[in-house]
Amino acid sequence: MKLLVLLLVALFAAWLWRSRQARADSDAVRSAQRKRRAASRKIAAPQPIVACAACGLHLPASEALAGSQGRHYCSKSHLEQTERRTAPSSHAG
Ligand SMILES: [Zn+2]
Repeated sequence: MKLLVLLLVALFAAWLWRSRQARADSDAVRSAQRKRRAASRKIAAPQPIVACAACGLHLPASEALAGSQGRHYCSKSHLEQTERRTAPSSHAG
């Protein structure tokens, strides 16, 4: 009878140790995933930086407005200003 009790205690201890270990493992994995996800959210993919042809402001190419002759602009007003100034037009409008 004593042996059976000892065996049960040993089994219980093993189960307790295992469940604790598993929980620690999943916690570590979860926190690592969270960290990785946060890092990937923080660091954006590298983008080419272009300068506005009107004011020289540097901005990502995806946010810049494309003008003629490969020029980039930070805003629509700068695009219109500069394109109008450089565009060959004879009549004033
Ligand atoms: Zn500009």
